[in-house]
Amino acid sequence: MVDKHSGLWDQCLRKIEGKIEADTYRTWFAQTSSSQLDAKLAVIEVPTSFFVDWLEEHWLDLIRSTIQEITSWTPEIRFDVKKNAPASAGTPLDFSTTEESAPEPQNKRAVPEPVSEPVFPLNPRYRFDDFIVGESNQFSVTAAKAVAESPGATSFNPLVIYSGVGLGKTHLLQAIADYCVRNGTAKRVVYTSAEKFFTDYLRAIQKQDTSAYVEIYRNADILLIDDIQFYVKTEACQRELLHTFNTLYQLNKQIVLSSDRPPSTLKGFEDRLISRFQWGLVSDIDTPDLETRMAIINQKAGDHGVRIPAEVVHFMADQIDSNIRELEGALTQLITFSVYKRSPISLEIARDTIKSLGRVNSITSPSISIREIQKRTAGYFNIPVEMLTGATRRQEIATARHICMYLCRRLTQAPLKSIGTEFGNRDHTTVIHACKNIAAKLSTDPDFQALVSRIQNRVQQFASA
Ligand code: ADP
Ligand code: MG
Repeated sequence: MVDKHSGLWDQCLRKIEGKIEADTYRTWFAQTSSSQLDAKLAVIEVPTSFFVDWLEEHWLDLIRSTIQEITSWTPEIRFDVKKNAPASAGTPLDFSTTEESAPEPQNKRAVPEPVSEPVFPLNPRYRFDDFIVGESNQFSVTAAKAVAESPGATSFNPLVIYSGVGLGKTHLLQAIADYCVRNGTAKRVVYTSAEKFFTDYLRAIQKQDTSAYVEIYRNADILLIDDIQFYVKTEACQRELLHTFNTLYQLNKQIVLSSDRPPSTLKGFEDRLISRFQWGLVSDIDTPDLETRMAIINQKAGDHGVRIPAEVVHFMADQIDSNIRELEGALTQLITFSVYKRSPISLEIARDTIKSLGRVNSITSPSISIREIQKRTAGYFNIPVEMLTGATRRQEIATARHICMYLCRRLTQAPLKSIGTEFGNRDHTTVIHACKNIAAKLSTDPDFQALVSRIQNRVQQFASA
């Protein structure tokens, strides 16, 4: 049976191979196989979840039309991550240049089999293991883990997590649900959006039968309602939420809510609901700091099976500072650019990515000169520019010089050779070496990150003034 599917899929692959660039084929199709392919359903097996997103977004039409060409069927197409992907499938695509020392992508973590089933499907990518903890979210993560380990048994009931968009609310709520399911800390795990919670309710009333609805929501051991701010403003819905809340609370069942603002400022809710939201713990997620953003990029790159040079990680994290969903989008874009340009991921490609995302800032503007950066950097360290560009090898001066070269590389479009020339006729390899040293130090030393950020801010402030 399997042979027949894979035989058909192999034929499709050969067709696809003829239709697209060889590199693209190798990257996205060579490692796929099929476990089912008939008139109703095609199941394409892929190495990682990134392939699922990627193929769905970019190649679904091609896959569909090719299957139709070969088999004349138009089945539903589903992508599955291979359970025991062979070693070759897990081998990361190495986009970095060989000299770069980027961190190794993380190995896929071993995941225990679920003990029970959640009532609604969860995104398998949203687990605690996949969530990078930093100062911005530490408190919420700690609370979320406590609740996941002992639902209903902590004083965090309800737990309300709030933040701006794209900062991890949905991820954390699903991570709690996932933990409960995997470790059996709660039997009936119900994760839902507020929207679904209310539309389900309105439908139940229309059918004049709320028994199924009540059965699901009021029997939960843990009920997680995402985006509570999308609540439908009818009295009936308010009452229903209140009843559900009271029922669960009295039975010591856990309630977890997320919101895009603090509960006290939620609009359209009755006071008694708002006050209940505040009975337990209200915790926020702040925008992540640079270090956390860099860790997130490294982790997501690892999930994509891609290595990114430290210098580029720092650049991307520095450019996109307010929203992790955007950061993920930029990373995907970066990988695409590199695949299509057939060149390794580099600062140039990262700059193009940022530009294509419409982020025009001082990095892409030509207005800062190397000379200006040197002046400002020297000013910061309180040394004459000549010392910065001169031959002194004293440690502090050399470090200042390296930082300055690094900033010239990042803040101007100047080629390495010109940067070298402006630093006392040094060779371009000296500049490369300096930039690498700085990037490596940035990825491990938060104090050093802060220092470089301060100098960069100073340079950019002056430049834009
Ligand atoms: P929200 O619900 O607050 O709008 P999401 O939970 O949907 O945000 O997060 C947006 C994206 O960013 C998701 O893909 C999520 O996995 C990712 N993300 C957010 N915070 C983190 C983090 N600390 N570590 C890893 N990924 C994160
Ligand atoms: Mg969300």
